[in-house]
Amino acid sequence: MTRAADAPSPLSPKLAAQVARRIESDIIAAGWPVGVLFGSETELRLRYRVSRAVLREAVRIVEHHGVADMRRGPAGGLIVRAPDAAPSARALVIYLGHLRTTIPDVVHARLLLEPLAAAMTARSITEEGIRRLRGSHAHEAAQPGMEIQDELHALLGELSGNAAVALFVQVLTLLTRHYASAHRPGEREVHQAKADSANAHRAIVEATIAGDVALAEHRVAGHLKALGRWLGTGPEPPVGGAGVTEPDTVHVKLAEIVADRIRSDISRAGLAEGELAGSEHALIVRYGVSRAVLREAIRLLEYHSVAGMRRGPGGGLIVNRPDPSASIEAIALYLEYQGIDFDGLRIVRDAIELGCIERVVARRGEPGVAERLRDAQRLDASTQAELEARSHVFHTELAELTGNPVLALFQRILTVLSARHLRATPSTVPSTGSVPTTEVMAAEVARVHGSIADAALAGDAGLAKHRMRRHLATLSTDWWH
Ligand SMILES: [Zn+2]
Ligand SMILES: [Zn+2]
Repeated sequence: MTRAADAPSPLSPKLAAQVARRIESDIIAAGWPVGVLFGSETELRLRYRVSRAVLREAVRIVEHHGVADMRRGPAGGLIVRAPDAAPSARALVIYLGHLRTTIPDVVHARLLLEPLAAAMTARSITEEGIRRLRGSHAHEAAQPGMEIQDELHALLGELSGNAAVALFVQVLTLLTRHYASAHRPGEREVHQAKADSANAHRAIVEATIAGDVALAEHRVAGHLKALGRWLGTGPEPPVGGAGVTEPDTVHVKLAEIVADRIRSDISRAGLAEGELAGSEHALIVRYGVSRAVLREAIRLLEYHSVAGMRRGPGGGLIVNRPDPSASIEAIALYLEYQGIDFDGLRIVRDAIELGCIERVVARRGEPGVAERLRDAQRLDASTQAELEARSHVFHTELAELTGNPVLALFQRILTVLSARHLRATPSTVPSTGSVPTTEVMAAEVARVHGSIADAALAGDAGLAKHRMRRHLATLSTDWWH
């Protein structure tokens, strides 16, 4: 690591990513002071002991995560900013489309999160919230046209007061809107569906305002199931992000807009891994941008592992296997900025992971499921860092085994966030007063994971959920229990 820091080139993308992460952690530790100068380029090079080239690459990542911007000029430097989740949320929608996420997958995830959002809103609703709910309902009712009406869903997510719930609901409504745009029913059918949906929304709003938690949850669930049935009668959703890629924020950089367009064009054209999206010259002409802007856009695509540049004759932009890691990092940072605390995180983990258990119990007889779960419960760790990294494997595998890409993705975001919180509180002293050895902790984590797997594989969903709920509840204190 230190050797690469001295070398001017070639650039190490991994080193730049590590430096970016350190800069971000330091900004978070400083209390995320928006508008403050975090350091000039020279200061930052000295502070992080990296070459100018590595620092610039790291700054690009930090900028892309929406954590800070480099201001040029004599009084310039890295300025801390308020992050924006929109570009990453769009990237996740495109990624889920690429994985051929189905309508039942999306509806399943919405059923885990939206009744929860309504319940949380019903419990804490204020007069201002009531005005906004009624206003949104009136606004939806006044819309003509065939557009799907989803304003209320995003608003319930927002009013829940939980940033992760709000963001996930937003991603899911975007994805649903994208699938609905492929659904072209007759005019009469649309009128009926719109009338049904308006009635359902009115009933949801009234139950929420009245603070009737159970009724609000019940009505949201019923409405989502009806929506799932209605969308399920349409054609298979198209691959890609058509209709959701228009940037809706003004401060998105040009390179980011171009990267978004290229990304959605690749997925709309159905280009496979290894195929050529176009030569540099062809792309400059197609998107009408300068070489510098195109190159910056391509760096973003490379960072997201969407596509990479191949030099030489026959070269150009080559499609990669998409990897959502970069968007996951950005979303986790955004949620961190929104100030999600451990309790807020636990509520969402409960919703997602208990939902995963339900699904895995149903699939336990399918080939490979039991073996993979058993493999994931094994835990060897000799250092604390290994233990932290590997104790997530069981949870990640549980989410993967549902076969629902939405749950697997959301679980990864929550894992990254939980890990950041654990790192932020290094001295988790147990209530017993003495810190056990890594071996003892690893054995305990493996035992608890094993007991969850036992119940799930025996088909006892209730007991498996009870054990998981208890496990997640202890993560903030004696986290190895
Ligand atoms: Zn609705
Ligand atoms: Zn665990």
